Amino acid sequence: MSDIINFNLSELVLNIKNKKISSTEITKAYVERSDKSKHLNSYNEETFDEALKKANEFDSKPDFNKMLPGIPIAVKDLFCTKNIKTTASSKILDNFIPTYESTVTQNLWNQGAILLGKLNCDEFAMGSSNETSYFGNVISPIDKNLVPGGSSGGSASALAAKLTPATIGTDTGGSIRQPASFTGTVGLKPTYGSCSRYGIVAFASSLDQAGPMTRNVKDSALMLEIISSFDDKDSTSINFKRPNYTKDLSINIKGKKIGIPKEYRVDGMSKEIENLWENGKNYLKDCGAEIIDISLPHTKFALPTYYIVAPAEASSNLARYDGVKYGFRNEGENLIDMYEKTRSEGFGDEVKRRIMIGTYVLSSGYYDAYYLKAQKVRRLIKNDFDNAFQSVDAILTPSTPSSAFKIGEKLNDPVSMYLNDIFTVPVNLAGLPGISIPAGLDKKGYPLGLQIIGKAFDEQNILNIAYSMEDKINFKFDIKDWWIK
Ligand code: GLN
Repeated sequence: MSDIINFNLSELVLNIKNKKISSTEITKAYVERSDKSKHLNSYNEETFDEALKKANEFDSKPDFNKMLPGIPIAVKDLFCTKNIKTTASSKILDNFIPTYESTVTQNLWNQGAILLGKLNCDEFAMGSSNETSYFGNVISPIDKNLVPGGSSGGSASALAAKLTPATIGTDTGGSIRQPASFTGTVGLKPTYGSCSRYGIVAFASSLDQAGPMTRNVKDSALMLEIISSFDDKDSTSINFKRPNYTKDLSINIKGKKIGIPKEYRVDGMSKEIENLWENGKNYLKDCGAEIIDISLPHTKFALPTYYIVAPAEASSNLARYDGVKYGFRNEGENLIDMYEKTRSEGFGDEVKRRIMIGTYVLSSGYYDAYYLKAQKVRRLIKNDFDNAFQSVDAILTPSTPSSAFKIGEKLNDPVSMYLNDIFTVPVNLAGLPGISIPAGLDKKGYPLGLQIIGKAFDEQNILNIAYSMEDKINFKFDIKDWWIK
C-alpha cells in the first residue's frame, strides 16, 4: 500500500496498464492517506465514496487506452464540477453546486481520471499563502508553521503530502508556480489561451490560466497534454496544433540560448536565491546550453501593473455575486440593503480590498491615470519579452524571492504579501508559459524553485529545459509524515 502513494503519475499509469495494480487499490491508498491528513486542511470537499465507486466501475470494465486510466485526482476548488460543490473557498459560493463541468476537468475525466475531491485555495484565488480561504488556512506538509503558498495552496499541500498523484491549479499571477516552489513540486502555467477557462471561477480573465502541478516534469507534460485543448466555449481559447508533449520530451537542449534578465536581480535579493540562480545557470551550461545576459527593462513596473489590472478585472467579474442569481444571500430590508449585506458578509477582507481597488482604478476620473496607463505598461512588458526572445530561446529566473514563509507572517502586510509575486506576474501580463521546478534548499532546509519562461506556445521547449535540469539537479526532498496521527 505505501508503495502506491510513492509512485509518480507516469509510474501509476504504467502499472495500471500492465495490470500490476488496480484503480481500486490506487484510489483506496489515496483515500486512506487523505483521510488521515485532515490536519493539513487541503480539502474543501471530499468525494471519496464516489471515487471508490468509480474505481470499482473502472476495474470491472477497464479501458487501458485512456491516458489516465482509473487514476484518482483531486483538483483546486476553482474548477466547476457538475453536481459537486464548487466554492472558490468563499462563503458567497458555499452552497453553489454547478450544473456543468469545466472543460479542463472534463478533459481529465475523458481520459479516465477519477475525482478525489476539491482542494482548498485562497478565496477567489486571491492570495499567495492560502490564508484567505473561508475554510481556513492550509498547512504545508514541509513544516507545521509554514504556508504552502497560494493561491493553489491546497493543491500544492495535497500534492507534496502525497494525497493525490497530481493536481491542477490556476495561475493569475503565480498561483501555480509559487506554491510549487514553496513545496518542492513542479508547477506549469501554460500560454494564455492553451487551456480553456470555461467553467473556472473567474478572477482576472485576461490573466487566468489553468495548469498542472506534479511531482516531476514528465508528469507535467502528461497532464498538460490532457488539459490543453481548443474550446469554442471560451472566446479566448486558441486553436493551434497541440504537440504530443510527452512523446517529444527530451533532455537534449544542446545549443539552446537561455537569457538571464538583469532586472530580476532585485534589491535585497538573498544570497541563497543568488546562489540558486547561479547553480541553475551552471546546470544549463552542463546540459550544453548557452547563457546570455538580457534586459527586460520594464520589469519593475510589472507588480504595480498587475495590482491594477487584476483587481480591475476582479471587481467586474465579482459583480455577479449579488445574492440574486446564485450563492449566499443575506436578507435585507430592500434590494440595495440585501446586496450590501450579502456582499459584506459573503466576501472576505482580501476580496473586498481587491474589489475596492478595482472599482477605484476603473472609476471615471481615475480610469486614464490608472487602468489605461497600466494597460499601456502591460504592452511594454510584453514588448520586452518579445525583444528578448529575438536572441534567446527561454529565460531562467528564480520562481520566488524567498522560500515558504510562516503562517501569519505576512497576513497583515498586503504589500509584503504582494511582493512575493515579483518574478511570476510578468509572465501572466505577457501571456507566456512558465514552469517552476524544485532546484535546491535554503539554509532552513525549505525548497526553492527556479522558473523557466518560454515564448508563447513553446511549452515543449520549456518542458525539455526543465526536464534536462531536473535530471542534473536530482532534487530529493523527504517529507516526514508528521501530521498523520
Ligand atoms: N498572489 C497573486 C494574487 O494574489 C496571484 C494569485 C493567482 O495567481 N491566482 O493576486
